Amino acid sequence: MPADCRPLFPDISISKEQFPYIQGNERPSQKDSASRTTSIRITQVPVPEETRPYSRLVTCVAYGDVKQQLFVHGVAPYDSGFHKLYRVARVAGLGLGLIVTEDHAPGSVIVWECPLLVMPMEVLEDPFPGDTIQPAVGHLDDDTARLYRRLYNCFPSRGDEKEDLCNIMKTNGIGVGLLPGYDEPYTAVYADICRINHSCSPNAIYTWDLQSFRGEVRASRLIKKGEQVFITYVDNREPYDVRQQQLQNTYNFTCACPACSLSEAERKRSDVRRGVLSKIWRSSPDDDVEAWMFDLKLPDDLIIKRFLRYADMMEQEMLSDAQWIFIARALVMAYSALRVVEGAKRWAKKAKESSLAASGGDNGWGEVADAPETTDFWGLRKLPVIPGVTWAITTV
Ligand SMILES: [Zn+2]
Repeated sequence: MPADCRPLFPDISISKEQFPYIQGNERPSQKDSASRTTSIRITQVPVPEETRPYSRLVTCVAYGDVKQQLFVHGVAPYDSGFHKLYRVARVAGLGLGLIVTEDHAPGSVIVWECPLLVMPMEVLEDPFPGDTIQPAVGHLDDDTARLYRRLYNCFPSRGDEKEDLCNIMKTNGIGVGLLPGYDEPYTAVYADICRINHSCSPNAIYTWDLQSFRGEVRASRLIKKGEQVFITYVDNREPYDVRQQQLQNTYNFTCACPACSLSEAERKRSDVRRGVLSKIWRSSPDDDVEAWMFDLKLPDDLIIKRFLRYADMMEQEMLSDAQWIFIARALVMAYSALRVVEGAKRWAKKAKESSLAASGGDNGWGEVADAPETTDFWGLRKLPVIPGVTWAITTV
């Protein structure tokens, strides 16, 4: 471990004597002898003061080698230094929500925020999660702890502080995936990001950036000034019943978003559409498109017709731009293979918007939109050139 690790990442250890139940527990920090006398290792990562108005530290319950690895990776929390592009406000029927204070194009960042607390998700499955969460919250500075305690708790309070602190974590924790140094997923809670409400047809996407140790929320569709920001708390490709069940079980509410407020007949059609789209997302369509390119016995417009139908389903389900990439990519490939410039350009632009919404970068789709003739797929499906014959290929 680098010599200057300690002052940068001070450990706060809670001794096992304070929590005697920990004997025999499988908690990984006990597996190595160095940490056998401690049950919880809390690492506090400093945030430059000028970027964080209310706190200087991000607190992380560090299992395994997480603490060392955060240092090795040069993780430096960085909160948004610019003025906020949103406000937290009361919204009808949903408690608090996030409202944008200016227009956001797909891909534009609405929130950059360092978490109040980061911890392994498995803590919540411990028999006594409060024995980890309560001391972790106890090590937050006063302002941060106040923000944590103010977050929504979707479970009824019985006046038990430990239980309430755990339920706040259960209600608000958002996955951050793996942190280096430990092979189980982590979760984080935020003061503002956790105020974003759920929709099964969301207009924003949440991602985690390890290097700046912060969450990012980006518009995944155009969000106009004054509109509310929504992300999805569940896999929104699932049918209505599954989504409602998951939301009820985990967050104790019934979703009344536009997709969930349809009549029963419309909802069934919506389920079918989401089911079809789900299959596309789960299987890479590239293989089918490539097989079609080289099989001249198949109809020329097979892929285009099929994927335009999927595109129509996407529009009807109001799914976010971030989820369009497979469909847009297949259409660019098909139009390019058929040498249809207009169609290839149109869908490369959609792929660019989708990439921007998903990751903030265009992944080269801008170049494809400018000159689809330069891609590897151009003209791969060789339609015979017959003077005076125009091939009937849909370009809408
Ligand atoms: Zn819904």
